[in-house]
Amino acid sequence: MIKEIDGKYVANTYARFPLTIVNGKGSLVYDENGKEYIDLGTGIAVNTFGVSDDEWKNAVIEQLGRVQHTSNLYYSEPCALLAKELCERTGMCKVFFSNSGAEANECAIKAARKYGADKKGREYSTIITLKNSFHGRTITTLAATGQDTFHNDFTPLTEGFVYAEPNNMDDIKKLCAENKCCAVMFEVVQGEGGVNPLDAEYLSELAEFAKENDILLIADEVQIGNGRSGMLYGYMNFEIKPDIVSTAKGLGGGLPIGATLLGEKVKDTYTPGLHGSTFGGNPISCAGALNILSRIDDNLLLEVREKSKYIFDELCGADGVVSVSGLGLMIGVETVRPAGDVIAECMEKGLLVIKAKQKVRMLPALNIPMDELKKAINIFKEVCKK
Ligand SMILES: *Cc1c(COP(=O)(O)O)cnc(C)c1O
Repeated sequence: MIKEIDGKYVANTYARFPLTIVNGKGSLVYDENGKEYIDLGTGIAVNTFGVSDDEWKNAVIEQLGRVQHTSNLYYSEPCALLAKELCERTGMCKVFFSNSGAEANECAIKAARKYGADKKGREYSTIITLKNSFHGRTITTLAATGQDTFHNDFTPLTEGFVYAEPNNMDDIKKLCAENKCCAVMFEVVQGEGGVNPLDAEYLSELAEFAKENDILLIADEVQIGNGRSGMLYGYMNFEIKPDIVSTAKGLGGGLPIGATLLGEKVKDTYTPGLHGSTFGGNPISCAGALNILSRIDDNLLLEVREKSKYIFDELCGADGVVSVSGLGLMIGVETVRPAGDVIAECMEKGLLVIKAKQKVRMLPALNIPMDELKKAINIFKEVCKK
């Protein structure tokens, strides 16, 4: 029924799985027949503490009882407090709020171009991104996305993006020599590209090069950010300090929010009128995000790293598993069987996992109970074995 209505009236942009999720609690979700699934997809790294989490729900409901929206014409407490928390915990200086990952990246891209224009001249507008990256679906973030398949049929895209081979410093240097660049933008773990972490050495060299040449580092932490990597932000696992950090997905715990964190170099780049968003900094989303952030503490991050190790230990070398990649609780598994078949059979057996390129991707809630995680991994191993 829902499937038919959706198929008839919702734009045909998604190849949905044959499943309607109607409710859930934590890492367990249920379909309309009451069938239970262990959810290792979390709405693509969004439901940081799972479904219908009580603490988060209370924070959201409390704010709903006060005011749901004020516009950015006025001050709003949740927005100010969230910006303070983000800055204090990262050492960044200012935050711009929006509603999605793509918008967080748009803000980062505009800030980088403005910085280039102010510091070196308007022609310094080129941004280097990495091949196989994913930065969003707007025309500009599509241009930033280093995968031709996303570009086809949507040209002309926004100009001024060039693409470097990941983990290849020579390529960065070559592109910088050939173009007037203002920034390099990257995911420390390429999510949609197949859950591939960048090399630590490459990131250190990149940071050094960017500093020497006054080129901004933009970390797209939309998917890996907010505790998922085992650190508050993914870049904190490496010896780098980005000038701009964009994030979204897990920050709101299930409500739409995007945030662009601006470091020392770009903290004053924006002045009134240069950027904005009607819904950005929405009090409900910010109240939810404040609750999420307050719970991503050292204990939780340690737990994330331990659960990550458990998954790697269980799956590396397991029957039917070719390789395991990722960081923290963002994990890609290359399977002998086609990923699509593995995902479909896991679903039949009550386990939700998703895809990233040719891999099976796992993005469990950061607080998934160990017994549920064990059960999930056992189902997965059973399915991979065949
Ligand atoms: C999901 C994602 C985006 C886009 O986020 P939306 O909220 O869908 O606009 C951008 N960058 C990365 C790394 C992502 O994983």
